[in-house]
Amino acid sequence: MDREAVPVVGKDGRRRIARTDTLLADPRLAEAAGRLGRGVVKAAVVAAQRRARTGEIAPDAVADAAAAALPVTASGLRPVINATGVLLHTNLGRAPLSDAARDAVAVASGATDVELDLETGRRARRGRSVLAALVERVPQAEAAHVVNNGAAALVLAAATLAPGREIVISRGEMVEIGDGFRIPELLAATGARLREVGTTNRTSPDDYAAAVGAGTGFILKVHPSNFRMTGFTRAADVAELTGLGVPVVADIGSGLLAPEPLLPDEPDAASMLKAGAHLVTASGDKLLGGPQCGLVLGRRDLVRRLARHPLARALRVDKMTLAALEATVRGPRTPTEQALHAAAGTLRERAGRLAALLRGEGIDARAVESEAAVGGGGAPGVVLPSAAVAVPEAFAARLRRGVPAVMGRVEDGRCLLDLRSVPPGQDDDLAEAVREAAR
Ligand SMILES: *Cc1c(COP(=O)(O)O)cnc(C)c1O
Repeated sequence: MDREAVPVVGKDGRRRIARTDTLLADPRLAEAAGRLGRGVVKAAVVAAQRRARTGEIAPDAVADAAAAALPVTASGLRPVINATGVLLHTNLGRAPLSDAARDAVAVASGATDVELDLETGRRARRGRSVLAALVERVPQAEAAHVVNNGAAALVLAAATLAPGREIVISRGEMVEIGDGFRIPELLAATGARLREVGTTNRTSPDDYAAAVGAGTGFILKVHPSNFRMTGFTRAADVAELTGLGVPVVADIGSGLLAPEPLLPDEPDAASMLKAGAHLVTASGDKLLGGPQCGLVLGRRDLVRRLARHPLARALRVDKMTLAALEATVRGPRTPTEQALHAAAGTLRERAGRLAALLRGEGIDARAVESEAAVGGGGAPGVVLPSAAVAVPEAFAARLRRGVPAVMGRVEDGRCLLDLRSVPPGQDDDLAEAVREAAR
């Protein structure tokens, strides 16, 4: 290691904390400044100097400490191994992208033909190939449009189809999505009026029929994706509402394009359109397993009206999202789909192997049964049988602060590392992170 550039001994022979400029000349830090930006490296240096001043580290260890604390990228976002057992963890950015989608993002991040036909050299329709991919996967959809997220899809539908008009919605479907955002308020923010029908637990097709009139923009069916209602309940199906002379928009939330046998209660785009929905809206980063975006699928004339609305420009997605979405739709099984379908026996074997490995190194680890969940405000109440490596609770904070960070789940005084949400390819990294936490 080359510490030549960092004199730490003063004239009086006492060890001093080197100045920032001197430290930034350290070859490792100078290289990092070129890669990550001077400001990022300087922040690490200043933090290390502070640690030396408080006596936490030795004055001559400042350069090493700063180098060790450098972030992986110039962004504050750090890589995390999701061992929570929640497949779509909202606070971890919901769906992890497939390798195919990551590769597509990397290519699209440079100059790319997002709005150019390289054959003719002329301008081309933005996102044409991802829109084609969506319609190929959901043949019931005549057309597709992509916006920034599921909420944006709803806003665009409301602004286009119901300005100054009424959106007819069941009182049982007035959903709060999360973080205090409520679908009724979101819709009202566009200037549409909500016409609530039915009661919290029961709404019949007749309730809708009685409310539909000249002032109706559309009927909205919202999938109550993050809660369950049982008992004396009744909701109208899309098929019961399509004959009322107004468009029916179905907000399915999860982004399933076709039925998922493991999640029979989750609505999918194909089935909704088959049942007669004129438009379906959904998120891209839930069960579809793609990037954050919102999908609008359905009747060509309506999709076109939405896409031509002035707000569409404000809600449009960037080229990297288009690339990731297309690779998700055309590409191999997503990490989310693989995690959902992983056999419990395979997860148990992985947990057993990891626990045995770590125990062999003197770490208190054992394989335990666990219960995983879909998450992301989807499939509430669905329990996915899983397996976890249980380590001491005190590991939880150390794992969280490691690189990569590991998020586990603290349960009954143990930190559970649930393997259903960890891609098998990350098992070695997970083991290394536990070793690091045990040191
Ligand atoms: C998640 C969800 C939304 C919001 O989608 P975002 O992509 O988070 O904006 C809207 N409606 C339903 C039914 C949902 O599940």
